[in-house]
Amino acid sequence: MKKRRLKKSAIIASAIAALVIIVLISIIIFVKHITSSEYKLEKLGYNEKQVSEIIKLKKEKFFLNNDYNENYLPLMNEKYYLEKNLNNYLSYIKDLKTEKKKINYSDVISKVNVKASNGFYKNTKEADTKKGNEVLVNKFYYLTKDYDPGEIVDMSNWYAFEGRKIKKEVYDAFIEMHNAAKKEKINLIANSGYRDYNYQTKLYNEYKDRDGSEYADTYAARPGYSEHQTGLALDIVSYGATMENFDKTDAFKWLQENSTDYGFILRYPKDKEYLTGYSYESWHYRYLGKDLAKKVKDSGLTYDEYYAYYLDK
Ligand SMILES: [Zn+2]
Repeated sequence: MKKRRLKKSAIIASAIAALVIIVLISIIIFVKHITSSEYKLEKLGYNEKQVSEIIKLKKEKFFLNNDYNENYLPLMNEKYYLEKNLNNYLSYIKDLKTEKKKINYSDVISKVNVKASNGFYKNTKEADTKKGNEVLVNKFYYLTKDYDPGEIVDMSNWYAFEGRKIKKEVYDAFIEMHNAAKKEKINLIANSGYRDYNYQTKLYNEYKDRDGSEYADTYAARPGYSEHQTGLALDIVSYGATMENFDKTDAFKWLQENSTDYGFILRYPKDKEYLTGYSYESWHYRYLGKDLAKKVKDSGLTYDEYYAYYLDK
């Protein structure tokens, strides 16, 4: 009789112990769940798919410290997203929404990165000339009146129209390219090279008087903002072609395939006016040196975008 009672209470005790353990485990699981990033992110308004993207990006901390925003993830998933530009991306998106424009996140990133989202010639600053051949001069980065481009040399009539000048290193590269093209019966000729500040002023004013400043701005740089003032840019054409039809020539085709082997890139490509600020110029080439020229071409980016993402540090 006593033995059986003992056995019974042992069973009850074990059952209670088991129950306590189950309850404890459940509490632990529950607490773990409600303190998890996943749970908190869902509470903030992100769905399951977004939560897993956030975790994949390792951005839990950022998202947990900020209110829900539908733009964060699409921006951060873009290849050329730059953390330092986040607020500018968001305010540009806000502007686009106010204007009832469609949001293309890739364009938002590109435009903000190159600073074109506020309009050209806005928030300009002096170009970082310490970067040497990598220097970026565009409608946001200017050269001062007294900028010293280094050794500028006269170009021979063999390679250029009368009186053209260019930086020595660029001249050497151009001669090498000219000779290589010549072997394939292509005759490359420089139509414009180094232009100093005063010459650019004269040129721009002529265009402005003729076409008005709004139109002149689409094809000519304001003084200080011309890449030609670096001594690193050349306008290249071939005999018999005008600048306007140059992109229909074999010379242009040859440059498309080979120019980076000599350190030159096409600087103002087609359909990139919204980033470069210039209409397509099949004749304007920028010297960057062989390595960088190849990298820029392979990236498929304009130099403005490439610089903003990789070099502006
Ligand atoms: Zn040019």
